[in-house]
Amino acid sequence: MPSYKERRLWNQDMETLSRDALRALQLERLKKQVVYNYENSAFYKRKFEQGGAKPEDIQSFEDFAHIPIMTKDEHRRAQEASTEEHGNPYALLACAPREKIIRINSTSGTTGIPTLYTLTRHDVDIVNEMHARKYWRAGIRPGDVMLQALSLSMFTGGLPLSQGIMHMGACVVPVGIEGGTKRVLDFVRLTSPVAIIATPSFGQYLIEKCPELSGKTAADLGLRWFFCAGEPGGGNPEVRNMLAQGFGAKVFDHTGGGHAFHGISCDEPPEQFSGMHLVSEDHCLLELVDPNTKKPVPIEDGAVGEMVFTFLDWEGGPFMRYALGDMLQVFTKPCPCGMPGIRFKITGRADDMLIVKGVNVYPEAIKSALLKFAPQVTGLFRILLDEPGPLVNPPLRIRVEYGEGVTEQDLPALERKIATYFKEEVRVAPEFEWVPPESLPREMKKTQYIEIKGASV
Ligand SMILES: [Zn+2]
Repeated sequence: MPSYKERRLWNQDMETLSRDALRALQLERLKKQVVYNYENSAFYKRKFEQGGAKPEDIQSFEDFAHIPIMTKDEHRRAQEASTEEHGNPYALLACAPREKIIRINSTSGTTGIPTLYTLTRHDVDIVNEMHARKYWRAGIRPGDVMLQALSLSMFTGGLPLSQGIMHMGACVVPVGIEGGTKRVLDFVRLTSPVAIIATPSFGQYLIEKCPELSGKTAADLGLRWFFCAGEPGGGNPEVRNMLAQGFGAKVFDHTGGGHAFHGISCDEPPEQFSGMHLVSEDHCLLELVDPNTKKPVPIEDGAVGEMVFTFLDWEGGPFMRYALGDMLQVFTKPCPCGMPGIRFKITGRADDMLIVKGVNVYPEAIKSALLKFAPQVTGLFRILLDEPGPLVNPPLRIRVEYGEGVTEQDLPALERKIATYFKEEVRVAPEFEWVPPESLPREMKKTQYIEIKGASV
């Protein structure tokens, strides 16, 4: 009999469910969830009233799409109201009694007041299950040591993720990023991990700094897996190639912190990257909406929209039609790897969207375009704005780092090539400002691509 370690999937039954069976399960769970939210939270009750519906009116996904979207701003306002009415910021949105809440997380984000949500033991078990599904698919098994080099703070990729790794029986070293690069490298030496979880920017930084800080190259660290998280770069073929070569490791992009939306890419060559498999559809209903009008966008192959999620079979703070601000592109065609279900790419933050002469531009698209010209550029850049977006008074100004070995004499020709590419592929004609290699700050956490004049970053 094969050992359990040879199983391809963590949860064979759930992860291979047919589309029809999965949709039926989602609908059954959705109907229960809306009744539960309505009965246990004044906030969600009000949402139903705004949509002119009662929970029993929700008999289909189409019925459900009439409930108004919940935004992050609304979440913050509800937290303020909750503090006034109940003495704490989460009571209004929580659906479970206080003694059942065992964890409070914050949605990831770099701006504004953190938005909180609450989990019961049941919810924490689901989150652990999702982490297990992801790492198991990627080939991690009990006995493997994984170095967790993301932020360990309230960011949901921190401790919840470490807990998920323990849940599947692998070994986590939650070193975090707060102690700096040297400490991360010290723990690579001390614990011999086979995998690292980090932002792609930190990966790039490690490749650059490793020889100086540890006397060896990143490829000599012995890492066989690089798991990208925390920012969208892992979806970029050039970034994946750079990490794969730099570390001599398989590169997986994955997402999902302490909540119910979880995805991981499959083991394809970096240039064939076709998105992450959504592994948590039994606990998360995904919808897409237009970021401006919030009208539904049908989930079809190649569709792009702002992600809206609803937690299913969830107790603590079950989000309902929550638009967290991530822009997704979805793929419904079968994946060459044979796994069923939706795949997606995170194409940017709805907040980061810029509009230049009527064209929507995301920093991630600029990064992808620039990386086509690596190593003549390092891929690091800043978008320089006079005032906050989304509307940009043209031209769009971009500060770009040229690569090692490029001279000032080479720049005009390089700029012409890049400008032509931008015009054709990104559909904007930026004004470039060139700076030498290593002049832009390397971020260990989330990279801020936009610099607003006069604003301290
Ligand atoms: Zn696949």
